[in-house]
Amino acid sequence: MRKKLLLGNWKMNKTVAESKEFASKVAPIAELAKKNNILVGVAPTFLSLDAVKQGTKDFIVASQNCHFEDSGAFTGEVSIPMLKAIDIDWVIIGHSERRQYDNETDEKCNKKIKKLVANGMTSVYCVGETLKEFEKGLTKEVVGRQLREGLKELNAADFDKIVVAYEPVWSIGTGKNASEEIAQDICSFVRETIKDMYGEVSSKVLVIYGGSVKPENIAGYLSQKDVDGALVGGASLKIESFEAMVKALV
Ligand code: PEP
Repeated sequence: MRKKLLLGNWKMNKTVAESKEFASKVAPIAELAKKNNILVGVAPTFLSLDAVKQGTKDFIVASQNCHFEDSGAFTGEVSIPMLKAIDIDWVIIGHSERRQYDNETDEKCNKKIKKLVANGMTSVYCVGETLKEFEKGLTKEVVGRQLREGLKELNAADFDKIVVAYEPVWSIGTGKNASEEIAQDICSFVRETIKDMYGEVSSKVLVIYGGSVKPENIAGYLSQKDVDGALVGGASLKIESFEAMVKALV
């Protein structure tokens, strides 16, 4: 049985003090989640990673990005050893905002995922099509390419440390949800593609949906057979709605 996963993506929100305040209220939510076999956590900015990690227990604290080199002349970047040094072992890779604004290519994502795997860390690899691609019926072509490029040259055994998040770009932060049927269809396609690439391990991989998920609609997505969880932006910022989403999954 695959676990459920709720991961909040805070993007460029919350000061360290605001992040600490959220962390100070996490304990009962993390306990409830643990009791119900649900993995929960958030991805704060680099600045707040340490504070949230220190202030929580049984709670995933993920970085929103990392560099694939260990150190060097890469101004503004943060490396995997730096994250490891503060006990951060989950990283979001290839979020559409990074693909759009920071030239995050499938190839770069692949380098990062391989490096994370080598360090025993978990990657949450984001894939998804733009509105134009969706309207042209290219979703599976785009997502298929992102998977084959981003997840190439790995081993089946690496997939206990890889989560795939299907996030249609047109539904992120827009309030325009993909239907439950679309989420199921593409999450199932993700699983099929991984099966084609790496075999039966695909049935164990966590595949989650992201895009305007909130307390009112999260249970509907999770009721789909290939949707194991959600990557949530806006609705993860307030502790009340974060808690409501966990409760909706119990
Ligand atoms: C995201 O940031 O990955 C996301 C899905 O955002 P939102 O929930 O706000 O659409």
